[in-house]
Amino acid sequence: MMPQRYDWLIVGAGFTGATASRRLAEDFGQTVLLIDRRGHLGGNAWDRRDEGGHLVHAYGPHIFHTNSARIFTFLSRFTEWRPYFHRVLAHVDGRLVPVPFNLDSMAALFPARMAERLSEKLIQRYGFGARPSIDTLRHEADDADLKFLADYVHDRVFVNYTTKQWGVGPDALDASVTARVPVVVSRDDRYFADRYQAMPRDGYAALFQRMVDHPNIHVSLQTEHTDVEAARFERMIYCGPLDEYFGASAGALPYRSLRFEHQVVEAADGQPVGTVNYPNEFDFTRITDFRHLSGERGTTTALLTEYSMAHQPGVTEPYYPVPSPDSRALAATYRQMAQALAGRVWFAGRLADYRYYNMDQAVGRALSLVDKELAPALERTAA
Ligand code: FAD
Ligand code: UDP
Repeated sequence: MMPQRYDWLIVGAGFTGATASRRLAEDFGQTVLLIDRRGHLGGNAWDRRDEGGHLVHAYGPHIFHTNSARIFTFLSRFTEWRPYFHRVLAHVDGRLVPVPFNLDSMAALFPARMAERLSEKLIQRYGFGARPSIDTLRHEADDADLKFLADYVHDRVFVNYTTKQWGVGPDALDASVTARVPVVVSRDDRYFADRYQAMPRDGYAALFQRMVDHPNIHVSLQTEHTDVEAARFERMIYCGPLDEYFGASAGALPYRSLRFEHQVVEAADGQPVGTVNYPNEFDFTRITDFRHLSGERGTTTALLTEYSMAHQPGVTEPYYPVPSPDSRALAATYRQMAQALAGRVWFAGRLADYRYYNMDQAVGRALSLVDKELAPALERTAA
């Protein structure tokens, strides 16, 4: 039987909330009520079987990658892994070329001698294997060839995709957004360069189920944080949207939302790689073919098309914080308001920190929250 009163209320059962729950329950003997307003664990990483039995990600393709041995080891307690290197092609000038844009992308798009010259200049400038951002390339292009290349990649790969995805062009966003997808000075066509790249063998839902399977953790789904009376918990970790906690009293933080179109097609009508990006055509940004992510092979496969749109609180899901100078300033205002709650409520995660975290960064944030901010207080409590 779980107690009626808990040491912790943890709001949001995604990577941040689930990781913090497990650590507090297991390493500090704390009782945790972990809630989510959705009807499942896993936040945006949740996966399920579709009507055709394919393992699909309900909220967009989630590929696990990290450079952190600690994060990989922590998660490995709750899942086995299937090695997987994500590959992405983009439809540019009528061809499907590797993205991140690399030496092979140039060879596919430019006349041979020109591609060779550009490759040599890139290698000379940055070194073989380097991964400069498009922003770096554009700002450092002091040579006509490199300038041509930087403008070409910027215009054909980044400008229209970014405008579709964010509603504004790259120049209105922090450079860190487009820097996620560098230009690669080699033939490495993997989307990520991290040391660990893999998919949870039985899927994310199973990983989360194991992570929260602890006698000190009680899970309550379809539960709003305002449904839980303050008398039922000592302290709270809140992983929902930062502004929502404060009733958006300082103004609404912008988020981007998505509309997902799932479909099942004959295997022959699937894609050659996990994801194909469409920077310049159509209203959608990209299509993912899940058989590459799951490793499953059948006569059919599951595709997912993503359409981006502005978030409407209460109507759509806030999938992406928008990294820009204005939103950063507003988020800082809310962080100051959060200071008044220090010692009782902690804010953590992609929505509550208002940071464009990947899954591993959400786990890392929760691990360091527990180690650096919570553990000292808990030790004092125990002493
Ligand atoms: P979330 O997963 O958003 O979880 C927060 C939870 O809090 C939600 O379930 C929400 O329902 C709940 N909640 C919010 N408010 C309340 C409330 N008031 N009461 C109760 N519950 C509440 N990362 C990668 O590493 N690789 C990828 O390939 C990748 N692809 C992505 C693709 C898309 C389309 C998106 C949107 C994200 C992708 N990510 C990827 C990022 C990844 O989803 C996040 O890093 C991760 O899910 C963040 O975990 P979190 O727990 O902080 O937040
Ligand atoms: N991007 C782009 N063209 C591409 C791929 C990415 O312009 O073909 C930009 C775009 O702004 C996008 C950002 O780089 O939002 C980050 O891309 P990523 O694939 O990391 O986005 P996510 O998977 O988080 O949606």
